[in-house]
Amino acid sequence: MSMLIAIDGPSGSGKSTTAKLLARRLGLGYLDTGAMYRAATTEYLRRYPEGADGQAVAKLVEEADLVCDTSPDAPCFHINGHEVTEEIREPRISAAVSTVATNLEVRRLLTELMRRIITQHERRIVVEGRDITTVVAPDADVRVLLVADPQARVARRAAEVEGKATADEVTDQVLRRDRDDSTVSNFTDAAEGVTVIDSTFLSPDEVVDAIIALSPRN
Ligand code: C5P
Repeated sequence: MSMLIAIDGPSGSGKSTTAKLLARRLGLGYLDTGAMYRAATTEYLRRYPEGADGQAVAKLVEEADLVCDTSPDAPCFHINGHEVTEEIREPRISAAVSTVATNLEVRRLLTELMRRIITQHERRIVVEGRDITTVVAPDADVRVLLVADPQARVARRAAEVEGKATADEVTDQVLRRDRDDSTVSNFTDAAEGVTVIDSTFLSPDEVVDAIIALSPRN
């Protein structure tokens, strides 16, 4: 039976932690779509250190062999034969990813790939990102917009990257990136049928419980 769970939200809202826990608890696959944009950005910076126009970026993504692991335990990502699982978390990737993610042709190509992965999993998968509830899988069985106060989001991201980014870099990674990303996807207002969960004062397990309570089998 289909159990497609779509979770959107801004950076630091707790999407990845929640989605992984949820996938483990329900025995589902897990797709981190932000990691797909990050992997594309890694290849873009490797190939075009001086920058490139939008068409070149889209061509690079169209021709890329992007392999996405969908296990909720430490998923690996490869692009064109290179493993980039750790590299995609580097601050230079976080700083550049919105440039790639605001390219509409790139979004179309990666959305197609996300939908293929969902189908390969027979719709038994948790998918998290910025436009899953609205564009990639508006027909998902459960649709959630996860939000949290900006201070909580910055603090969570700072804990994640501890020692690897300055306070200014962390603020940029959260607040500036959300501003740029929101020019192409709306992840601040819930679309019709999407439930908003505020994780500011909830533990990851409490968020997972709230999402499971929304599932049609409950
Ligand atoms: O979730 P994460 O911070 O890893 O996402 C990295 C970037 O990927 C976001 O800043 C955004 O630019 C892009 N993204 C997106 N649409 C998604 C998921 C991520 O544009 N569905």
